[in-house]
Amino acid sequence: MKLTGVIVLGALALQVQTATGLTAQEKALAAYIDAHNTEAEALLERAVNINSGSMNLEGVREVGRLFRAEFDALGFKTEWIDGAAWGRAGHLVATHEGPSQKVLLIGHLDTVFERDSPFQKFERIDAEHARGPGVTDMKGGDVILLQALKALKSIGELDRMNITVVMTGDEESTGRPLARARDALVNAAKGAAAAIGFENGDGDPAHAVVARRGTTSWRVEVTGATGHSSQVFSKELGFGAVYEAARIVNAFREQLAGEPHLTFNPGAIVGGTAADFDGATSRGTASGKTNVIAAKAVVTGDLRALTVEQFTKAKAAMARIVAASLAQTKAELTFDEGYPPLAPTAGNERLLVMYDKASRDLGFGAVQAVSPDRAGAADVSFVAGHVPMIIDAVGMKGRDDHSPSETADLRTLPVQTKRAAVLLLRLR
Ligand SMILES: [Zn+2]
Repeated sequence: MKLTGVIVLGALALQVQTATGLTAQEKALAAYIDAHNTEAEALLERAVNINSGSMNLEGVREVGRLFRAEFDALGFKTEWIDGAAWGRAGHLVATHEGPSQKVLLIGHLDTVFERDSPFQKFERIDAEHARGPGVTDMKGGDVILLQALKALKSIGELDRMNITVVMTGDEESTGRPLARARDALVNAAKGAAAAIGFENGDGDPAHAVVARRGTTSWRVEVTGATGHSSQVFSKELGFGAVYEAARIVNAFREQLAGEPHLTFNPGAIVGGTAADFDGATSRGTASGKTNVIAAKAVVTGDLRALTVEQFTKAKAAMARIVAASLAQTKAELTFDEGYPPLAPTAGNERLLVMYDKASRDLGFGAVQAVSPDRAGAADVSFVAGHVPMIIDAVGMKGRDDHSPSETADLRTLPVQTKRAAVLLLRLR
């Protein structure tokens, strides 16, 4: 028991020491954030109460106007980039020029809850929790991002900072063409030393994201000679489209399954005398008789990988498999544009170390990276390769995002804001 007491005392002593590790400026940031937390909660409630499902273009624009006014008040130059060219509302871009190194901050205005969803309003559950569409994913993160900048302004530090904020209007359902839809984000990343995404991640305040797998979808179209089934395997008629599709899918599994961070899943397959699959509606049709060799088959699936190299290698292996056709069959493999991966880099790791240090110095404990296999694709991935240091999932924490019980842990609002503000101050 005595030994336990010593350990507890040791931990307390450590806490006192780290708390004094903050500079006077950093303590002032934390004090501002505590003093203005009620305002931050009120802004969050307003933002959540505006429906901004990705396809509710006017709603997304309205959330954009709400945040735009806040950035205007902070002295940012703001711009709304219209999204007609990619079939979505558009993006809010706010820039603040200063002599410090450039930092890119990323949010999104849209949610998965469209106008016809029954889940529409912010609802306080108790002093520490609130439910609402987008309360963690990611209007909470947007408010944290903004509130951190307000705190920096209050201590006179924002003035010399070089910050670009991009809040996209279509993170949950990205417009196409994808390259066009993310043009503004990629442009904003140019020259940035660091990029910070304020997504909610896995909801755990002890976690951040420094690597995300990318994802793309693929389609294999197979054609084969057709005729009476009694002549299948013959030199003239060969194996037919269904055997060839089966060979391809099985070879994908045999040759590629089990590689760390690489997954690929055939989600649908159709085949027969006639077969078609509509990728837009995810529906297919097929017809054929037991005594006729299949003339056509279509398989669609996804492919997820951690690095560009892993994508390139996997795609090449898939192409080789597809090209090794059975007799009297032919197959074609195509990939869509896809989401790029956020590959782990030494720079991303450095930024996480800084964030972790800021958290410890604030007395909030360690922050660790989550496995990239558990982190889906997100907007930060589009700036990978353009920015040397990237971290994501430093926004509002909670649970059940993308569901009608999406709940924010409101205690994380000031915690995450302080962590972000201290990190930004140390990055300047
Ligand atoms: Zn999100």
